[in-house]
Amino acid sequence: MGPEVKQLEETLSAFVNVKHCITVSSGTDALLIALMALKIGVGDEVITTPFTFIATAEVIALLGATPVFVDVDPNTANLDVLKVEDAITDRTKAIIPVSLYGQCCDMDHLNAIAKAHNLPVIEDAAQSFGATYKGRRSCSLSEVGCTSFFPSKPLGCYGDGGAIFTNDDSMAQTMREIRVHGQSKRYVHDQIGIGGRMDTLQCAIVLAKFPRFVEEIEMRQAIARRYDSGLASLSNRLKRIEILPENKSVYGQYTVKTDDRENVVEALSAAGVPTAIHYPVPLNEQSAYQHYAHGNTPNSSELSKQVISLPMSADLRLEDQDYIISTLQEVLS
Ligand SMILES: *Cc1c(COP(=O)(O)O)cnc(C)c1O
Repeated sequence: MGPEVKQLEETLSAFVNVKHCITVSSGTDALLIALMALKIGVGDEVITTPFTFIATAEVIALLGATPVFVDVDPNTANLDVLKVEDAITDRTKAIIPVSLYGQCCDMDHLNAIAKAHNLPVIEDAAQSFGATYKGRRSCSLSEVGCTSFFPSKPLGCYGDGGAIFTNDDSMAQTMREIRVHGQSKRYVHDQIGIGGRMDTLQCAIVLAKFPRFVEEIEMRQAIARRYDSGLASLSNRLKRIEILPENKSVYGQYTVKTDDRENVVEALSAAGVPTAIHYPVPLNEQSAYQHYAHGNTPNSSELSKQVISLPMSADLRLEDQDYIISTLQEVLS
């Protein structure tokens, strides 16, 4: 908890335009601490998407609560907000949308549904730090925003780190205490907490990288536009993830959909181009989570067979990107 911790928290809360930033040990612990502060536990239900990284649902299950999986929109791969209301029951205690691939879901609509049922919305913004929705930053769009500084995320440290954002003073205080073992004063523990601090060293690394971050976001967006236009001629075989007009994605991933994934992955790999699948199995089809599955989520299942993420980084060289695009054109045209 050296001076860089507070410095980073002040820098990021100003950037996001939210009153409180609490740095924590990872994006996973950010979500866990937020749910703990909301006193979510056994018997409670939390609505989320099955088409995400495991951490989103894991923290719900760890607290003894039940993840309730609502299907995604096939065009954006984000939570289908229209389907959320049907999943709300007397036991629902929170909603966790994921801003997948760097794009927020329709947060105003989701917030309105949540408000009508008096439910908090926790944005899993692990892939979307820096993104905007209607001009407002990801992590400022609901009660709580949680992000990650894992190296593969848009703003990475050199190990594990994360942050929680909220405008709620009392919740911020609770989350700060949970971060250090539920300690309100030295050796006074009024609630159960975790060892959830972010290292001063990792905070210093994010602080050092931060001055270039806005420029890096613009570089990522320029690279995404180059992919969009370079791959446009393949649009019947390689479909883009749709970016809603109110959104500016940070392209945590540049992900496309194809029914020919196996061939595409193989051809790119043979050409020396690495790819990744985000994600090959929806969470409600994972063996550890199957008992939580209620009803099916066909869009998530279909996307899990179609998606492929192409190399994306602010520093991807244009000649490397041209090579990736021409390799894809050879395989698919
Ligand atoms: C990476 C990620 C997390 C977890 O973040 P860590 O810092 O790795 O713990 C949670 N949710 C999503 C959607 C992620 O991509």
